[in-house]
Amino acid sequence: MSDIETLQAAIQSHWPGPPGEKAVRYIGHFTDCTRCGTKVVATVVGNHGTYTVSIAAGGGGVTSACSCYIGKGGYCHHCAALAHTFLRNPDSFREIQTIPREAVSGLPDLQAYLAGITLEELLAQLKAHGITQKAFAEGVGTSPQHLGAIKSAELRNHFFNDLGATKLAVLWVMEHFGKKKL
Ligand SMILES: [Zn+2]
Repeated sequence: MSDIETLQAAIQSHWPGPPGEKAVRYIGHFTDCTRCGTKVVATVVGNHGTYTVSIAAGGGGVTSACSCYIGKGGYCHHCAALAHTFLRNPDSFREIQTIPREAVSGLPDLQAYLAGITLEELLAQLKAHGITQKAFAEGVGTSPQHLGAIKSAELRNHFFNDLGATKLAVLWVMEHFGKKKL
C-alpha cells in the first residue's frame, strides 16, 4: 500500500460518513497543502485567524491536530474538513521528502530535516541515549516547564520561536554526551 492509500484508509475509518455542516464550508479551501509520507499539513482561514491543521496515520490509527482554540485533540471541524479535502483530491497535496540526519549538508537541508522531526521525537531519542528531558533542560539553562511547553505546542501546531534552536540543542547534546545505543 502506498503512503497515500495508507493515509486514505486511516482517514476513512477515523471520519466515516459524510462531513458535518460546519466542516463542509472548509473542504477544498486549504492552502499550503503538503504531504510527507503518511502525514498531511495545510492551513485554512477560520473565524479567528489562519489555522495550521495536520493529520498523520501511524500505529494503526490517526493523529490529528489544529491550532484553533478547540483543535488540540484534533476533534474540530477543520480536521474533519482537511480529512475530506485529502480524500477528494490527494494529488493537490505537494509531496515533501524527509531528509535523514546524515544527509543534511547545508542550511536549506537543515530546515527540511528539522521540519520532518518533532521535538517530542528528538527528546525520545535523547532519552534512549540516557539523557532525560529534565537533565537536558537544566543543562541548557531552560526550565523543564518551558521545554515541555515548546514540545506540546508543536504537537498542537503552535510553533515557538525557539523550536528550531531547541531541536538543534537536543541534537548537539545527543551527539556530544549521549551514550551510544546498545
Ligand atoms: Zn480547528
